[in-house]
Amino acid sequence: MSILSFSPAALTMLSENERLFQETVREFATEELAPKVTEMDRAQAMDPGIVSRLFELGLMGIEIPEQYGGTGSDFFTSVLVVEEISRIDPSVGVFVDVQNTLVINALERWGTDAQKAEHFPRLAKDTVGAYALSEVGSGSDAFALQCRARQDGDGWTIDGRKMWITNGAEAGLYIVFATVDPAADYKGITAFLVERGNPGFAIGKKEDKLGIRASSTCELILDGVRVGADAVLGQVGQGYKVAIETLNEGRIGIGAQMLGLAQGALDHTIRYVQQREQFGRAVGTFQGVQFQIAEMATEIEATRLLVYNAARLKTAGEPFVVKAAMAKLFASETAQRVASRCIDLHGGYGFTTEYPVEKLYRDAKIGTIYEGTSNMQKQTIAKVLMR
Ligand SMILES: Cc1cc2nc3c(=O)[nH]c(=O)nc-3n(C[C@H](O)[C@H](O)[C@H](O)COP(=O)(O)OP(=O)(O)OC[C@H]3O[C@@H](n4cnc5c(N)ncnc54)[C@H](O)[C@@H]3O)c2cc1C
Repeated sequence: MSILSFSPAALTMLSENERLFQETVREFATEELAPKVTEMDRAQAMDPGIVSRLFELGLMGIEIPEQYGGTGSDFFTSVLVVEEISRIDPSVGVFVDVQNTLVINALERWGTDAQKAEHFPRLAKDTVGAYALSEVGSGSDAFALQCRARQDGDGWTIDGRKMWITNGAEAGLYIVFATVDPAADYKGITAFLVERGNPGFAIGKKEDKLGIRASSTCELILDGVRVGADAVLGQVGQGYKVAIETLNEGRIGIGAQMLGLAQGALDHTIRYVQQREQFGRAVGTFQGVQFQIAEMATEIEATRLLVYNAARLKTAGEPFVVKAAMAKLFASETAQRVASRCIDLHGGYGFTTEYPVEKLYRDAKIGTIYEGTSNMQKQTIAKVLMR
């Protein structure tokens, strides 16, 4: 059921469909994913069995219409899924998030019928997607990209390097942004659908990271990669719109990732303080500890309202850009504060890899950086308020 046929009296009230989805994902995450988290973090790799299960459960094609083999659900459901998975593992959370809120979303909004017919069935079944905008010299200033596409007969030849590409190691389909005319500034930017098997396309260095270590972050190398005219996603010279509009939506997913992470850290901590004894009693019986738990729960609830509101607005087709920036900004700052406080409440054990909060603390750091740093979210919010 979509938001159009369901008007919640409260943002956190879920439709029957949303609740069922949430329960299924929670069961998968706690029973199947949780036992694999530590090993995937150590190995810096996704477990292939987990990836297969994500496809089987329909979590890699949440908004893909059923006619293409997808789940046929909506954006809000994608956000719920990312939250639930990130409670257990934010690496898998972003794996699912990029597939749904960036790649599938961009294809749904900008793809032709032929592109949807070609790519949606694969993305729903077994193909991972990646979204390649950033380069060595262009991060926050994304439109300063240097990757170049030249007209070549009836197609295009693409040359350049991309940096930091999530799902780079696993993907079969990449949305690559390149300029067809550097003199045209951002109006030369064009989005292309590039296959992993294209001659001249290679995966470069995989980053060794502080957190979300099971999520691959790779360089992409494009040396004379030839694609047909039908590989252009949207219009030639309109890639900046594809990039901005997709990221505006995608950052709600990062808000959900950080929300789930914070909730996961708090869940572990509530259990821990109830069994850890000092001074002859559980540390959770001290009011000082209870107040810290209450403060964290309140911050998380405020985050949930911001994230759900942005997601419901986007799902309903209402303006959401400022709310999305606020949600991502607040969620990522909350995740850092909560994960840090949760380590404090675990004492020395929290500082070791024996307890899960150490990993969540490392994972939290990425929230203020990717899909627009906290400064860039503030810029988006202020620009609208002060125009
Ligand atoms: C793990 C990981 C995964 C990623 N996944 C992807 C992906 O899948 N696809 C993709 O395309 N990219 C991806 N990225 C790239 C990511 O989006 C960029 O790292 C991010 O946008 C920041 O760009 P930058 O690293 O170049 O930092 P910079 O832009 O160099 O920023 C450095 C600092 O300067 C500040 N700053 C910059 N400009 C301003 C300004 N105008 N006002 C105030 N402060 C400013 C920033 O806030 C930041 O604190 C990923 C990055 C990481 C680390």
